[in-house]
Order: sequence, then structure tokens, then C-alpha cells
Amino acid sequence: MAEERFVEHARDGDIHVLRIANPPVNTLRTGVREGLHLGIRAAVKEGARAIVLIGDGRMFSAGAEMTEFGKPRQPPSLPEVFDEIENCKVPVVAAIHGSALGGGLELALACHARVALASAQVGLPEVKRGFVPGAGGTQRLPRMIGGEAALKIIVTGEPISAGEAVKLGFINAIVDEPLEASAVAWARAHAGDTFTLARHRTDKIKGADLAAFDAAAAALLKRSRGQESPKGCVTAVRAALTTSFDEGLAIEREQFQRLVSGEQSQALRHVFFGEREAQRIPGMPEGTKSLPVKNAVVIGGGTMGGGIAMNFANNYIPVTIVETTQEALDKGLARCDANWQRTLKSGRLSQAEYEKRRSFLKGSTTLDVVKDADLVIEAVFENMEVKKEIFAKLDKLARPGVVLASNTSTLSIDEIASATSRPELVIGMHFFSPANVMRLLENVRGAATNFDAIATATEVGKRIGKLPVLVGNCDGFVGNRMTGKRTPQVEKLLLEGCLPQDIDRVMETYGMAMGPLATGDLAGLDIGAAVRKARGTVAPIADAVVALGRFGQKTSKGWYMYDEKRTRLVDPEVEAIILDVAEKLQVRRRKIEDQEILERMLLPMVNEGARILEEGVAYRAVDIDVVFCNGFGWPAWRGGPMFWADRMGLKNVRDRLEHYAELTGDANLKPAKLIEQLAAEGGNFASFGVKRAA
Ligand code: NAD
Repeated sequence: MAEERFVEHARDGDIHVLRIANPPVNTLRTGVREGLHLGIRAAVKEGARAIVLIGDGRMFSAGAEMTEFGKPRQPPSLPEVFDEIENCKVPVVAAIHGSALGGGLELALACHARVALASAQVGLPEVKRGFVPGAGGTQRLPRMIGGEAALKIIVTGEPISAGEAVKLGFINAIVDEPLEASAVAWARAHAGDTFTLARHRTDKIKGADLAAFDAAAAALLKRSRGQESPKGCVTAVRAALTTSFDEGLAIEREQFQRLVSGEQSQALRHVFFGEREAQRIPGMPEGTKSLPVKNAVVIGGGTMGGGIAMNFANNYIPVTIVETTQEALDKGLARCDANWQRTLKSGRLSQAEYEKRRSFLKGSTTLDVVKDADLVIEAVFENMEVKKEIFAKLDKLARPGVVLASNTSTLSIDEIASATSRPELVIGMHFFSPANVMRLLENVRGAATNFDAIATATEVGKRIGKLPVLVGNCDGFVGNRMTGKRTPQVEKLLLEGCLPQDIDRVMETYGMAMGPLATGDLAGLDIGAAVRKARGTVAPIADAVVALGRFGQKTSKGWYMYDEKRTRLVDPEVEAIILDVAEKLQVRRRKIEDQEILERMLLPMVNEGARILEEGVAYRAVDIDVVFCNGFGWPAWRGGPMFWADRMGLKNVRDRLEHYAELTGDANLKPAKLIEQLAAEGGNFASFGVKRAA
């Protein structure tokens, strides 16, 4: 019987305890809903004075079981369970530990009262999966804490601490461990109290200032350009202020159903599940354990090294930066300090926390510190000779069995590993700039890299708050290799008729955090120029821009000009350069439609992504999407490049690539073999990835 399987019923005298037993995260799958429904009835029948709902495992509940979405719904529904709770003649008290998220929090909100451990977190993250809370969260929370406070929690989807929830007024009390005993004692002490259910409360919403609510909503929506679910959240929460509870529920349901079946929600869930899937490494023997890492050494304290080291200190792992001179070391450490100070000033870090983190960061000018290291990450200049020399030294100094990682963005991990006697423990750990902020970590597997090294890089990556994705060794790995194929099309579009602002506008309207030209200005156009020089390639327009000393933001001029506040401004001089080059090359410029710009930006990346899959550099198509949504400003609600291509249909992708290959004479745009094959079979990247990883 489901009740016995997913909800355990215990009795502590006349206080009954229903324990959700679907660990580790207690999603509210059918068996749980059924168990709660029957359990409450049984408890009342047996004469309980109060009922405590508690969760097994890591948390109270992470909410709905998303794998049940889109399938025929099995009764009882969550609202039916909530009806049972609300109609129960004795109080039902939710006892929260770990997290109560989404439907999990909605369950707690439907109860008569809530107690929590101080370490617990509560939130309604549905917006991040592309829909709105669907079981009354948008109606109950405003009735408990007011429209604006509820709106912030629902539109951002960010969890808050139990302490904050007590202050806001939707958790009754913080209790001590052990939670069950405390919750039972609390329920016993309050069993005779009168509780007003959230659905019956009007005190926080009566006479709500709708103009203030709308202003708060507008400010929140500004942060989620193009995304539909935050708007749906606003509509539903606003209904709590303007209509009855039941009408509000109907509006919430309408928003939920519209959004949950929409493409944005599918994209967001694709990325959400993809992020978990990416942690599953095909072929990794069961039980492979990460090597113990209690401290780390980072070689090089420049732009990347400093940021990488901060990640360790932020997570209380002792870390030492090694630099060549005291001056360079001081500069590196000062850059870390400046970063922390900025967060401190913004109020997101306390002085005490800053000091604690800072105490985990040290510096040294001698490589000898590597002797005591559990993990070494190299982040010196991007030069093979320099890296090989360093790895030879690291190999001699580091204890046997210690993993040696490189943050190289382009160089071969195999060649770097060849300088050591332990190539099996050499791996790429490719962080993205700013390394203390960006979530993506491409772990690069060399030909010799073993599973111990892979497990270690994966585990450490997670411990320092990153999202590791394992990729193969090739020029540019996954992310930079794919964006690199877009660059020639940028140059061609400029030559044929676009201006920088046209391309950036199309890409930013699509949802990218920043268009490719503005990104170039941020990174420095001299870097691309140096790469072209080294590779013997030319880009007449980009080269002409750099030749004028326009290196981007750092020189206040690049594809745009920048004022002292770094505001991006269109510069007529750039248009003049473009027109001049086009004339010299006798290119007749034409008006280029937005759709063509979009396709010429995305299709070359998709084509390269297909080659990456063919070669096994990425295990699954979704790994590629996860890379882009976490390291390249790709909006998760668009699902990533491979998701985009699957939606377009691979036959269509093949035809458009052929069209552009012919139009632009760029052989690189000829459809990859895998696209030809999947288009012919009527397949897609998603299914290919799954097959490949299995
Ligand atoms: P950087 O020039 O800012 O820093 C390199 C630092 O290494 C310098 O401070 C230098 O003094 C130090 N160094 C050089 N030789 C050393 C040695 N023998 N021992 C100790 N320190 C030494 O460069 P960066 O941008 O931080 O890049 C570092 C690495 O990270 C490169 O491999 C680069 O390709 C990679 N990377 C850079 C980015 C980026 O956006 N900048 C992104 C990802 C990866």
C-alpha cells in the first residue's frame, strides 16, 4: 500500500507523526500524496490531537516530481491533499529541515503551522523551471506576508533562510534539533490554539497598494528580459490582491498550465536535468572515489589564478597562490581582496565572513609549497613551453598520487601531461572569467587521464561551487571551439551589410547576456588579433579596428566607444572603417534580415557542436547546452544551441547550413556528417546523446 511505502505513520502519545519517506529529496510523487491523504484521515480517526508532517533524508521536500509532468495525473492531486489538511479538525504542523522548495513549501503553507531548524531554507523556485507555483503558493504566501514580499520570493525563485521566513511571518518558530522531538513538543503545546489558515487570511492583503505592487513587479521583471514565467508569477500574485482565494487559484492554474507546456519551460527543464546528467560520467567504475583534497595550490596569480584561488577560500579550503615575484604576488592577492571588498560593500558579504574567507588564502614565491599540496592548478601564461617547464617541476615536487591540473584554454592537455611522469593524473580544469563568479568548469580529459583524476576534478569542482562538465581534449574544448566558428561569420556579416550594433541587438534580443561584438570589447580585441597572427589568418575589418589601437573597453574604444561609466555607444568611426574595407574589397553591401543574422550566428556553432558529438569530445548534446548556459551567457530558457537546433528540426538545420555554405563560400558551414545522418534518419541530437552515453 502506498501509505506504507512513502509515508510512515508514527505515534507519540496523542501527537501523530507522518514522515515523508521518499529520500533523498522527498519529491511529492503519487505515493507520497496518497500516503499523506490517507495518513491524515487515519490519524484523525485514531484521535490525534495534532499531526506533525516531517521529511526523511536530506530535506523536508524538494516539491513536485517533475518526471510525472506531462503524464496522466494520478489522484490525489496536491490540492486534494491540501484540502484534507485544511479540513482536518486538528492542527497539522510542518516540521522543516534542509529545504522546503516548490510544492514542498506549498505543502507546508497549506498546514496550520510551520516550525523549522535554523539551518533550513525555504523557497518557490518554479519560476526557474519556467512556470509558476501550481499548488496555491501564489495565493497563500501573499495572504501570509503581503503581496510585495511574496512577489520577490516567487519571481526571483531564490530560497531564503528559515530565520528570514520567521521574520516575514510564514514560519511560526525556529526549533532545536532533534527536529521530530521539538516539533512534537511544539505541536503538543499548541494543539489547543486557534490557527487561521492562509486561505482565510486577509490582514496582509486588504487595501494593498496596487501601484506600489506594480512598480515592484516592473523592477523585478527588468532582470528577466524575454522570459515568460516571471510575468506569469506577477499575474498570479497580483490576483491574490484583487480576487477571492478560489478565483486566484484558478488564475494560478491557468498560468501554470500555459507555461508548463511551453517551450521555455521545456528548455529550462532540459538544462536543469542536463546539469545533473552531466555529472554522470560514462564508463566511470562504480565506487570510484575522488582523492582527498584538503588544500590546493594555484600556480599564477593573474586574472584567472586569483579568481580560482578565491573559489577555494570562499569554501574554506586552504589555498596558496604561487607567483614568480613578490610584486606579482602582492598584486594578485590585492586583486582578490578588491573583489571581496566589492562584495562586502554591496552588502552581500559581512566583515567577519570576509575575514574568515581571507584567512584561507595565502601566497608564496616558491614552488616548494607544492610538496604539501593535495591538488595543484596551474594558471600561468598561455604558452606551451612555459607550461611544460612548470609541469615537469610540479611533477618532481608534488607527492605521488596528487592531481596536477591546468587552466589552459587552448593548449593540449596531452602535451602538457607528457612533461610529467604521471600523465594519468594530469587533467584540464578550465575555469571561465571571472573565475570566482562563473559557474562553468570544463574538466578536460587527456588521453591518459584516469578516473581517479576525473573524480577528483569533478568532486572538487562541486565543492567550490562550480558546475563541472567533462569534455575531451581538443583546440578550444567545447565552448571556445564552438564560439570560435561563429567569429568568421561576424566578420562576413559586417562586410556584407551589418554594423556591430545590428548583430549585438539580434543576439541580445534572442536573450544572450551580451552580443558577440560587445563581448569582444570586454575581453580585448588585441587577444583575437594575436590569435589570428599566430594562426596566420586575417579578418580585414577586425584587423583594421585593432590597427587603430581600438582594443575594446580597456582603451575606451573597440567595436563601440565607451564613456567613463563604460556605457556602450555607437561610434561612427567604426561604420566608416567597415564601409571603407567593404569598398576596398569590392563587396556590395545589402540589408541583412534579423533572421539571417541569428541563423548565421547560431548555425556555425551547432555544426561544430555536431562534430564535437561525433568525435565524442562531449558525451551528450545536453552537456554542450549546459556549457553554454553556464559559461557563455546563453539564456537557460532558450535551452542552449543543441536544444535550439533540435527544435528547428535537423532537416531544416541541414538545409540552412547548405544554403549559408553556398551563400558565404564558407566550407566550414557544410553540414557535419552527424547532421546529415540524423536529418536522414529523422533523428535529433537529444536521442543521439543518450545513445552515445549509454
Ligand atoms: P595572466 O597573464 O593574467 O596571469 C598569468 C600569471 O602567471 C601572471 O601573473 C604571471 O606572473 C604568472 N606566472 C607566469 N609564470 C609563472 C611561473 N613560472 N610561476 C608562477 N607564476 C607564473 O593570465 P590569465 O588570463 O590569468 O591566464 C592564465 C591561464 O588561464 C592561461 O592558460 C589562459 O589561457 C587561461 N584562461 C584564461 C582566461 C581568461 O579569460 N583570461 C579564461 C580561461 C582560461
